[in-house]
Amino acid sequence: MLYKEQQIKIYNSLSGKKEDFKPINEGHVGMYVCGPTVYSNVHLGNVRTFMSFDMIFRYFKHLGYKVRYVRNITDAGHLENDADEGEDRIAKKARIEQIEPMEVVQMYTVDFHTILDTFNFLPPSIEPTATGHIIEQIEIIKEILDKGLAYEVNGSVYFDVLKYNESHHYGKLSGRNIEDLIHNTRVLDGQSDKRNPQDFALWKKAEPQHIMRWPSPWSDGFPGWHLECTAMSTKYLGEQFDIHGGGMDLKFPHHECEIAQAEACNGQSPVNYWMHANMLIMNGKKMAKSTGNYILPNEIFSGDNPHITKAYSPSVARFFMLQANYRSILDFTNAGLLASEKGHNKLMEAVANMEQLQPSAETTEFDVDAWKQKCYDAMNDDFNSPTLIAELFAAVKFINQIKDGKASVSENDFKALQETMNAFVFDVLGLENETAQAESGDKLAETVEILIQLRAEARANKDFTLSDKIRDELAAVGIQLKDGKEGTTFSTN
Ligand code: AMP
Ligand code: ZN
Repeated sequence: MLYKEQQIKIYNSLSGKKEDFKPINEGHVGMYVCGPTVYSNVHLGNVRTFMSFDMIFRYFKHLGYKVRYVRNITDAGHLENDADEGEDRIAKKARIEQIEPMEVVQMYTVDFHTILDTFNFLPPSIEPTATGHIIEQIEIIKEILDKGLAYEVNGSVYFDVLKYNESHHYGKLSGRNIEDLIHNTRVLDGQSDKRNPQDFALWKKAEPQHIMRWPSPWSDGFPGWHLECTAMSTKYLGEQFDIHGGGMDLKFPHHECEIAQAEACNGQSPVNYWMHANMLIMNGKKMAKSTGNYILPNEIFSGDNPHITKAYSPSVARFFMLQANYRSILDFTNAGLLASEKGHNKLMEAVANMEQLQPSAETTEFDVDAWKQKCYDAMNDDFNSPTLIAELFAAVKFINQIKDGKASVSENDFKALQETMNAFVFDVLGLENETAQAESGDKLAETVEILIQLRAEARANKDFTLSDKIRDELAAVGIQLKDGKEGTTFSTN
C-alpha cells in the first residue's frame, strides 16, 4: 500500500502546526466536513471549500486508505445569524417563495449535487441530513443536561459556556479565551432566554408559525445548528475520529461549539486533526451570498457575468482553484482564470502527447523516479497542490522535449511517467481532458452519420434487411435513429 511509504503532514488548526498524520486505525481515515445549508444556490466560494476537501479525499484514496468521508446537508436549524437569532434560513426562504421548507431543501440539494458533479467531485461515503438525526441530537442534549453543562429556559435549552469553561478551554481552536469573548459580545437585550451572551442554543422552542418542528422533552422545536454536526460525526465516525474540516469561517463559533458539545458529552476531544480551508474573495472581499459579492458556477460556464470576459470550463475553474494552496486566500479574477486556462490546456496537451511517445533505450535529461517522489512530497506536505502542479509542469517540459527529439525516455521510466501523470492529473486533482471528451463525442457523431447514410442507401436499394439491421443494432447499443421530414437524426441514452 502506498500509504505505508508516504507520510502525510497535516496543518492542524488546533495546534497551529504541521503534524505527522497518524490515523486512529491503520489504513483507515475518518473525515467529517460540514456541508452546505441548502437554502440557496452554492456560489463559487462554497465550491472552493468543498473542492479542497475533495482533493484531500482523493489523495487519501490514491494512497490506498479506506476513507469514510461524511459530509452533511444542513436542512434545519441554521438561523440567519450565528448568535442564535433570526429566522431559520430554510424556513425564511420557504416563506418568501411560498413553498414547503422541504421543497427548498430538495431544490438546493439537487443544485448542490449537480454543481459538484459538473466539477467532477467524488461523492462522499455518507451524506446525512440534520432532519434525519433529530433523535440523536435530543439524546446528546439530554446527556449535556445530565452533566450539568446546559440549562432549560421556556422550552429552549442552552449550552452553559461559562460553566464549561471552568473545566475546559472554550476557544482553544480559534485562539480565543473567555475574557475576550465576554469583552467582545454585546450584552443581552432582555429578550433572550440565555443566561450569558456566550451561551449557544442546543434546542429552540418553535414559535407558533414555525413549520419545521419536532417534539422533545422540552418543547416542540428544533435543534441548534452546531448540534447536528456533533450528532452525525459521532454516529458515523465515533466519539473520536481523525479529521474534521470546513471553511475558515466555521472555526468560530461553529467548530468551537462542536468541540464543547462533544467534550461535555464524552469527556474527550472529538477530533485529532482540524483542517480549515481558506476563503475565495472577489473585489477584495469574501465571496458571500449575503453581500451580493459572489459568482455562481453556471455563470463561469456560460461567461454570463460582468466579472469575466468569457466562459470557462469546469476543469479550468477547478485548475484555477487548485493552483492555490487550500490554506491561502484566493482572489477571483478574470486574469487569473485566463492564465489558468492556458496552463490547464498546456497540461492536457502534454498528457495527450505523452500517449504517442516512443520509449528509447535510456532516459536523458530527466530523473523520473526523483520527480515522482517530488509529486508525492508536495501532496504529503499538507496537500500542497500548487507545488504538485509545478512538478507536473516539469514533466510537461520533459514530455515536450521527448516529442521534439531533444530527450529520450526508457521503457520503465515511460511507464512510471504515464502512471504518475495520470494518477495526479486525473485521480488526485480530478481534472478532466475536455478536448479529448469533446473530440470523442464529435467522432461518435461522425460515425453514426456514416451509418445513417449507409442505411439510406440500403433503403434506396430496397435492401430492408440491411437497413433494419443497422437501425436495430444501433438501438441495441443505445443509439436511437429517428426518421423525420428533415432526414434521419439520432439520440443516445
Ligand atoms: P454554508 O452553506 O454557508 O454553511 O457554507 C458552506 C461552506 O462554504 C462552508 O464550509 C463555508 O465555510 C464555505 N464558504 C462560504 N463562503 C466561502 C468563501 N467565500 N470561500 C470559501 N469557502 C466559503
Ligand atoms: Zn458543521
